Amino acid sequence: MSDCIFCKIVAGEIPSKKIYEDDDIICFHDIHPAASVHVLVVPKKHFSSLNELDDPELAGKLFLVVPKIAKMLGVDGAYRTVVNTGKGAGQSVAHIHLHILGGPRIGMPE
Ligand code: AMP
Repeated sequence: MSDCIFCKIVAGEIPSKKIYEDDDIICFHDIHPAASVHVLVVPKKHFSSLNELDDPELAGKLFLVVPKIAKMLGVDGAYRTVVNTGKGAGQSVAHIHLHILGGPRIGMPE
Protein backbone atom coordinates (compact mmCIF):
# COMPACT_ATOMS: atom_id res chain seq x y z
CA MET A 1 0.00 0.00 0.00
CA SER A 2 1.43 3.33 -1.05
CA ASP A 3 0.78 5.17 2.24
CA CYS A 4 1.87 2.34 4.56
CA ILE A 5 5.09 3.01 6.45
CA PHE A 6 5.95 -0.69 6.78
CA CYS A 7 5.35 -1.26 3.04
CA LYS A 8 7.82 1.59 2.47
CA ILE A 9 10.34 -0.11 4.76
CA VAL A 10 9.81 -3.40 2.87
CA ALA A 11 10.39 -1.54 -0.42
CA GLY A 12 13.54 0.12 0.95
CA GLU A 13 12.01 3.58 0.59
CA ILE A 14 12.39 4.26 4.32
CA PRO A 15 15.50 3.13 6.23
CA SER A 16 15.30 0.56 9.00
CA LYS A 17 17.71 -1.30 11.24
CA LYS A 18 17.06 -4.63 9.57
CA ILE A 19 18.18 -7.80 11.31
CA TYR A 20 16.45 -10.53 9.29
CA GLU A 21 14.87 -10.91 5.86
CA ASP A 22 13.58 -13.79 3.74
CA ASP A 23 11.21 -14.05 0.78
CA ASP A 24 8.12 -13.34 2.91
CA ILE A 25 9.24 -11.56 6.06
CA ILE A 26 11.36 -8.68 7.24
CA CYS A 27 12.44 -7.97 10.81
CA PHE A 28 13.86 -4.68 12.08
CA HIS A 29 14.42 -2.82 15.33
CA ASP A 30 11.50 -0.79 16.68
CA ILE A 31 12.23 2.93 16.40
CA HIS A 32 10.87 3.52 19.93
CA PRO A 33 12.03 0.46 21.88
CA ALA A 34 10.07 -0.50 24.98
CA ALA A 35 12.67 -3.07 26.06
CA SER A 36 16.40 -3.48 25.60
CA VAL A 37 15.57 -5.84 22.71
CA HIS A 38 12.48 -4.73 20.75
CA VAL A 39 12.07 -5.80 17.14
CA LEU A 40 9.15 -6.05 14.73
CA VAL A 41 8.43 -9.09 12.54
CA VAL A 42 6.57 -7.89 9.45
CA PRO A 43 5.22 -9.81 6.44
CA LYS A 44 6.24 -8.24 3.15
CA LYS A 45 2.66 -8.58 1.90
CA HIS A 46 0.30 -5.98 3.30
CA PHE A 47 -2.45 -7.06 5.70
CA SER A 48 -3.91 -4.25 7.79
CA SER A 49 -4.13 -6.34 10.95
CA LEU A 50 -4.53 -9.87 12.26
CA ASN A 51 -8.22 -9.56 11.35
CA GLU A 52 -7.30 -9.41 7.66
CA LEU A 53 -4.56 -12.08 7.65
CA ASP A 54 -5.99 -14.95 5.57
CA ASP A 55 -2.84 -16.85 4.57
CA PRO A 56 -2.25 -19.82 6.91
CA GLU A 57 1.18 -20.54 5.47
CA LEU A 58 2.33 -16.98 6.04
CA ALA A 59 0.79 -16.96 9.54
CA GLY A 60 2.83 -20.06 10.34
CA LYS A 61 6.01 -18.52 8.96
CA LEU A 62 5.48 -15.35 11.01
CA PHE A 63 5.27 -17.35 14.23
CA LEU A 64 7.96 -19.88 13.44
CA VAL A 65 10.54 -17.21 12.66
CA VAL A 66 10.07 -15.63 16.11
CA PRO A 67 12.21 -18.10 18.12
CA LYS A 68 14.92 -17.96 15.46
CA ILE A 69 15.11 -14.18 15.74
CA ALA A 70 14.93 -14.34 19.54
CA LYS A 71 17.91 -16.70 19.46
CA MET A 72 19.79 -14.41 17.06
CA LEU A 73 19.26 -11.57 19.53
CA GLY A 74 20.22 -13.67 22.56
CA VAL A 75 16.84 -13.47 24.30
CA ASP A 76 15.37 -16.87 23.43
CA GLY A 77 15.30 -17.82 27.12
CA ALA A 78 12.77 -15.09 27.92
CA TYR A 79 10.86 -12.82 25.61
CA ARG A 80 7.35 -11.55 24.94
CA THR A 81 5.55 -11.68 21.59
CA VAL A 82 2.80 -9.08 21.13
CA VAL A 83 0.32 -8.45 18.32
CA ASN A 84 -1.84 -5.35 18.79
CA THR A 85 -5.05 -5.43 16.75
CA GLY A 86 -7.07 -2.24 16.37
CA LYS A 87 -6.39 1.31 17.53
CA GLY A 88 -8.16 0.62 20.82
CA ALA A 89 -5.57 -2.07 21.56
CA GLY A 90 -2.66 0.20 20.68
CA GLN A 91 -2.13 -0.70 17.03
CA SER A 92 -0.56 2.41 15.53
CA VAL A 93 0.68 0.98 12.21
CA ALA A 94 -1.98 -0.65 10.03
CA HIS A 95 0.27 -3.41 8.64
CA ILE A 96 0.28 -6.58 10.71
CA HIS A 97 3.42 -7.04 12.79
CA LEU A 98 4.62 -9.05 15.76
CA HIS A 99 6.61 -7.34 18.48
CA ILE A 100 9.42 -9.34 20.08
CA LEU A 101 10.45 -7.83 23.41
CA GLY A 102 13.28 -9.17 25.51
CA GLY A 103 15.59 -8.05 28.28
CA PRO A 104 14.78 -5.31 30.78
CA ARG A 105 11.88 -2.99 29.98
CA ILE A 106 13.06 0.53 29.25
CA GLY A 107 11.96 3.03 31.89
CA MET A 108 10.74 0.28 34.25
CA PRO A 109 12.52 -0.80 37.46
CA GLU A 110 13.88 -4.34 37.40
P1 AMP B 1 1.85 -0.99 17.13
O1 AMP B 1 1.66 0.19 18.05
O2 AMP B 1 1.58 -2.32 17.75
O3 AMP B 1 1.12 -0.77 15.82
O4 AMP B 1 3.39 -1.01 16.80
C1 AMP B 1 3.95 -0.17 15.84
C2 AMP B 1 5.39 0.00 16.22
O5 AMP B 1 6.06 0.49 15.07
C3 AMP B 1 5.63 1.00 17.35
O6 AMP B 1 6.26 0.33 18.43
C4 AMP B 1 6.53 2.04 16.71
O7 AMP B 1 7.53 2.50 17.58
C5 AMP B 1 7.11 1.30 15.52
N1 AMP B 1 7.51 2.12 14.39
C6 AMP B 1 6.81 3.10 13.78
N2 AMP B 1 7.50 3.60 12.75
C7 AMP B 1 8.66 2.91 12.69
C8 AMP B 1 9.80 2.96 11.84
N3 AMP B 1 9.90 3.82 10.82
N4 AMP B 1 10.82 2.10 12.08
C9 AMP B 1 10.74 1.22 13.11
N5 AMP B 1 9.70 1.12 13.93
C10 AMP B 1 8.67 1.96 13.74
